[in-house]
Amino acid sequence: MESPFACICGRSHSAETSAQEKARVEFNCRCGRRYKLEFREGAWADATDAITPEKRQPLTAFSGELKSRDDCQRYYFSHRVTGGLKLPVHIVFSPSVEKAEITMGGLKPLQMDAVRSVVEAQRRWVEWFDSLGGTRRPRRRGTDSVSPLPLS
Ligand SMILES: [Zn+2]
Repeated sequence: MESPFACICGRSHSAETSAQEKARVEFNCRCGRRYKLEFREGAWADATDAITPEKRQPLTAFSGELKSRDDCQRYYFSHRVTGGLKLPVHIVFSPSVEKAEITMGGLKPLQMDAVRSVVEAQRRWVEWFDSLGGTRRPRRRGTDSVSPLPLS
């Protein structure tokens, strides 16, 4: 028997459970949270932390062009960094132009084109971030006018 995946809010994911091992789906819960689910050992499990909508973006590093779009969506998720610490990662995403920007803390936002969903944006950011050197502290990138906040 499969056990359905349940969102933090308590609603269950009701996807087909005849999935192949390694199958992946995006689960968009009615509460607004989004997940990337993997079918493992007969059950759906979340491959990533929940992507949670947020009404106001607390960061100013994002470009005004994307933030000001009518269909701009704002999300955050947690990502594990040095020493198991989890830090919030913020996303702005515009489906109509398929652009996203993602950043953690005061880092320069990573800009992406051809983004079809916020789950895809999360996946691409995590791949990029982890490619920076695994458990090391992220390097600050870019020398333009965006000043990173102190990480202390
Ligand atoms: Zn939910």
